[in-house]
Amino acid sequence: MRASPIQPTIDFDAPGEQHGFLKLPYSHDASAWGAVMIPITVIKRGDGPTALVTGGNHGDEYEGPIALSKLASTLKASDVTGRVIIVPFMNYPAFRAGSRTSPIDQGNLNRSFPGRPDGTVTEKIADYVQRYLLPLADYVLDIHAGGKTLDFVPFAAIHVLADAQQQARADAAMRAFGAPYSMRMLELDSVGLFDTAAEAAGKVFVTTELGGGGSASAASVGVAERGLRGFLVNAGICASAGNGHNGARTTTLLDMPDGDCYTTSEHDGLLEMCKDLGQSVEAGELLARIHDATRTGARPREYRARRSGLLAARHFPGLVQVGDTIAVVADVVERGIAAGCASA
Ligand code: ZN
Repeated sequence: MRASPIQPTIDFDAPGEQHGFLKLPYSHDASAWGAVMIPITVIKRGDGPTALVTGGNHGDEYEGPIALSKLASTLKASDVTGRVIIVPFMNYPAFRAGSRTSPIDQGNLNRSFPGRPDGTVTEKIADYVQRYLLPLADYVLDIHAGGKTLDFVPFAAIHVLADAQQQARADAAMRAFGAPYSMRMLELDSVGLFDTAAEAAGKVFVTTELGGGGSASAASVGVAERGLRGFLVNAGICASAGNGHNGARTTTLLDMPDGDCYTTSEHDGLLEMCKDLGQSVEAGELLARIHDATRTGARPREYRARRSGLLAARHFPGLVQVGDTIAVVADVVERGIAAGCASA
């Protein structure tokens, strides 16, 4: 396969702290010989594992970009054994546009893996991550949130993997992240995901959903920052802060065992949620009403939970359309289990 057109302005093998770019040539009306400049930081000291930590896979999710920008500007090589590769805004055109997908090619980066070196801008980014960044990494953390159209209880997540040892290491990394909730996630469609690419390459992969609505809160950024630290401590790259706060945290283990977790809208209209995020739901209980937005006097459509559990995700905007995910009800496996890193 041909080489990627993306060129890094940093040296992945050099010690110290480097701040630079992944330079992706992009000729367009406003810049004939222009480039998309994707910020990247590499922090390296000595021999040790490599963590690849990413945000902005979707451009309207902000906990990752905020926490990773702060990490890039504060983490020193002296804090690190091994290497940390930080890409806070992976789909940079989407991030700058404040949209889930790229304004250049409408590409959804997290549906574009393994990508193509001769494809669209988004496919070129996916190809570079797949063939150049992933092989450098032992541990991969991709920080997501709900974006403009979804909202979540804050959770770190792993998938069910065929390799039991890889699964156990991913589970330890998820608990080290120590979000209030930890999820074994079921994907509606796993084709093209960064997750699938990293897991297939044998990496210890953790993803997150830390909130949503197209913004970030003090609480959700705090979850991202503590989680990032716990993830790097668990990887053996950073020492624990030593103040014990990691060890004191607990997490609630959630599971999405089948498609009954998802409630999909079959109507257009005005959404009335009847449960809030984090609330318990019984099977058959009313989750939401959709009111007719075109007339008065019509009965609202009722959506009831198909399983018992906890409301883990909801449609965020006030208007809803046919095909939107209204709600995700997750199974509560265990509450109050110890989170944070075993060594913290
Ligand atoms: Zn996302």
